[in-house]
Amino acid sequence: MKVQKPGHLALALLVLSQLVYAQRQESAHPSAAFDVLKVHGQVYLIAGPASNAVVQVGEQGVLVVDTMRDEDADALLGEIRKLAGAKPIRYVVNTHAHLDHVGGNAKVSSAGTQLVGGNFGGQVQGDHAFIFAHEKVLNAVSAKTGGTSLLPFAGWPTDTFFQSEKDLYFNGEGIQLIHEPNAHTDGDVLVWFRGSDVIAAGDVFDTTRMPEIDVKRGGHVNGVIEALNRIIDVAISEQFTEGGTRIVPGTGRICDEFDVVVYRDMVTIVRDRVQAMVKKGMTRQQVQAARPAFEYIPRYGASSAAAFIDAAYQNLGGRQ
Ligand SMILES: [Zn+2]
Repeated sequence: MKVQKPGHLALALLVLSQLVYAQRQESAHPSAAFDVLKVHGQVYLIAGPASNAVVQVGEQGVLVVDTMRDEDADALLGEIRKLAGAKPIRYVVNTHAHLDHVGGNAKVSSAGTQLVGGNFGGQVQGDHAFIFAHEKVLNAVSAKTGGTSLLPFAGWPTDTFFQSEKDLYFNGEGIQLIHEPNAHTDGDVLVWFRGSDVIAAGDVFDTTRMPEIDVKRGGHVNGVIEALNRIIDVAISEQFTEGGTRIVPGTGRICDEFDVVVYRDMVTIVRDRVQAMVKKGMTRQQVQAARPAFEYIPRYGASSAAAFIDAAYQNLGGRQ
């Protein structure tokens, strides 16, 4: 009788693990780097190489929250087609004006058709999907720097709002766009799918790093905390702080309310430490050297902690 020696088994496992490793290396290719997950109700997460898009698919068509980078947009559209078949893309919503979230606006919008009702006596098809955003997003993507704007005209938001909220009703559910002023940028919106019970949070929430604050574009640590508190207000956990409302961050995994509470507490603790150091008159270098985010570095990395501390130091009136 032939008995498999343990050495053979170990060798087989080694070969297998190397095969798995090789496969992972291959999937680093951009077109293969997309993960698609059902979040809840009619809402799906499409996770790309640089950021998340959130897609609602229903009877009336498709609504897309954020369009990734320009170079990811064709693959994003391919994933939307797999999810939605021939259903038309009707709306794009932008959570804020960074190119890893709005870079694909022109491609995704022009792949869609708008829904026009009312006095047109039925539904008339336009040649692109509407793009909703806070007006600060339009200001940012249309502003000319060095003769060119951040996005080509076809990628500019077509419908902007300046109030604290804008409401849509699509695919049988209310969708609320909630402006969070001066958080990650000056034009962040949370997109709350009230029927599916999902919040697309954009970059005010990111499970892969400490908050990235665009200080030049009006971002502020206190606004990030307010935005996280707003998510916690709106979200309802199912039981024992688990489940319930799903929150999809701008980058990273699907979360529940408690994940956001833990993240909010982390941001608040580090903010309070930096604030106390600013009050003592410490310089930027002294604050960094005091490592006010030391216990979070193993989870989020030293460079993201340093960038967050630097932004918070500026926000909180540190010496320049
Ligand atoms: Zn961003």
